[in-house]
Amino acid sequence: MNKKLLTTIGVAALLIGTAAMLEDKIKGIDLTAIDKNVNPGEDFYRYANGNWIANNPVPSTESRWSSFNIVSERNNETLRQILEEAAADVKSPAGSTKQKVGAFYRVYMDTLKRDQQGSTPVKPLLDKINSISSKSDLIKVVADLHKKGIRGFFNFYVSQDLKNSTSYIVYVSQGGLGLPDRDYYTKTDKKSEETRIAYLAHVTKMAELFGMSTEGFSATIMKIETDLANKSMTRTERRNQEKQYNKRSFNQFNTDYANLNFSNYCKLTEVAKFDSLIVSQPDFFSNLNNMIANYSLEDLKAYLKWSVMNTSAGYLGTAFEKQNFAFYGTALSGTKEQKPMWKRGINAANGIVGELLGQLFVEKSFSPESKKRVNEMVDNIMAAFKVRLTQLDWMSEPTRIKALEKLASFTKKFGYPDKWTDFSKLEIKEDSYIQNYFRAAEFGHRDMVSKLGKPIDKNRWGMFPQTVNAYYNPTLNEIVFPAAIMQPPFFDAQADDAVNYGSIGAVIGHELTHGFDDQGSKYGADGNLKSWWTPEDRKLFDAKTKKLVDQYNAFFVADSLHVNGELTLGENIADLGGLTIAYEAYKMHLIKHPSIIENGYTPEQRFFLGFAQVWKNTVRPEALRQLILTDPHSPGEFRVLGPLSNMPSFYEAFGVQKGQKMHKSEEERANIW
Ligand SMILES: [Zn+2]
Repeated sequence: MNKKLLTTIGVAALLIGTAAMLEDKIKGIDLTAIDKNVNPGEDFYRYANGNWIANNPVPSTESRWSSFNIVSERNNETLRQILEEAAADVKSPAGSTKQKVGAFYRVYMDTLKRDQQGSTPVKPLLDKINSISSKSDLIKVVADLHKKGIRGFFNFYVSQDLKNSTSYIVYVSQGGLGLPDRDYYTKTDKKSEETRIAYLAHVTKMAELFGMSTEGFSATIMKIETDLANKSMTRTERRNQEKQYNKRSFNQFNTDYANLNFSNYCKLTEVAKFDSLIVSQPDFFSNLNNMIANYSLEDLKAYLKWSVMNTSAGYLGTAFEKQNFAFYGTALSGTKEQKPMWKRGINAANGIVGELLGQLFVEKSFSPESKKRVNEMVDNIMAAFKVRLTQLDWMSEPTRIKALEKLASFTKKFGYPDKWTDFSKLEIKEDSYIQNYFRAAEFGHRDMVSKLGKPIDKNRWGMFPQTVNAYYNPTLNEIVFPAAIMQPPFFDAQADDAVNYGSIGAVIGHELTHGFDDQGSKYGADGNLKSWWTPEDRKLFDAKTKKLVDQYNAFFVADSLHVNGELTLGENIADLGGLTIAYEAYKMHLIKHPSIIENGYTPEQRFFLGFAQVWKNTVRPEALRQLILTDPHSPGEFRVLGPLSNMPSFYEAFGVQKGQKMHKSEEERANIW
């Protein structure tokens, strides 16, 4: 006990001794965020961010607040300017990007008109459902709804074939739920029961707003959705793509699930003839097939009406939007009040004309210099990864050769697409907000199904340039960094190199490691889902990742609520690997560009501080609960504590000693990539 106390004081003194200099700035690190009362060896997340956390409660219009929000806020100013300028310019040439974006925003902002319209824009759809007279006709409406972006019963999409990455294939998967996850229907704890009661009340209130009879309505919806949920895979199960790769012939699917009338669905959704498809969850479709037989036509129609109401509520007048927010914003995420109109307008524009808005965004907010610098960092981090792969002591040569081959074949994208999608066939009109949503959804649907039979379009991006995020796509073996993430605090051309390596460097390492996490490692260099590991190496890898599963399962956020170590495994592997590789890359960089102590912090310490400050966040308990249940990422706090507590280089940098919370014995530590 005494020894521990001494250690604590020892380290703290080292830092307090330099307090006078803390007035200075290390470019890229927020020194005022640091809580010097916390010992870095006990809780590095709170050491690096404690003061920031205390001074930054979640704003009333948000469910959480983090670095990502701060960058988004900055971008929002730019996006607002673009939208307002485009909306004010009524003379933009018809069909131009500016005309589409401008018309969209004008119609969105006209709440007077939206309120006058009430639910009339969706009345034709509801009438169509009312007029269904037989179960075989149900699919006609489902097809129409799906094209318009209204989900119901199941999902249909066209994407790269996981086992033949040079072609596209049709996928059908589970879907049709109004709550965020199947667990919301199946869990029996008090909080889950309360949420279901709130959902029932919400469905009833919506029925009132739409002027419908409420009798038995919400109970029917709950019964049908619970039935769908019971045969849905959990999020953890869905991480395993091999289990969901169930190839069926078109004819077989039609025979096995005859009540779906799938061939009719394909005709009506304008899908060209195809021979086979992937059924992600066969049990779900067997159940759905039975449900269509067993439920009354009236009940199934009620469910489809709810699908229309629930999707459209956010696109109609104020009363609908408010009720929608009361449930999804407040009850589920704890957000106290709606964002101002213009910010909601940005979200709406991202959802409907996102790539068009992105074209205008990069004209105003993109630095080729940042792109060049980040690209160089990617090269350095890949070089460090290569060295590590060559030196890994647990991997045999045959697997190592394949791993190196995969690393060498990564492709990378920065900023925005080289070639934008052709939106000439998308019309944005002045009639109503929701009609624009429907038109954009139909455009997206036709664009998607038109890919069938064509070669893979490698230019496509899975994120908009204005999105503060990055991703790894296993079927193209590519890492992608939108323009918006190449900004402070993730990347700052003026910042200390140590900080850039700890922030965007760790992000780059994270995306690269996704190619080698528990799922990404099942894809080869060519993007195909296939094993390239020796069975022995796979066993060793699984044993190493099991340590991480157990570690994260032990991170509690409330009484019985803890991080789901299995659901978050891929992200946790990527966090640990990414930081480890970024650190190695920084050490290599330091050899060529030596650095000195600044404000009392060594270059290594600044690297870890830069990393930990990226993940600072505050979050409402309701939102945290939702994140734990649905998000494959661990909460920010554990994205810091998890990786660092496994890294001896971190112990060394901050003098972390045995007995302190951030310290693990060699046995307990996970060391994978
Ligand atoms: Zn990730």
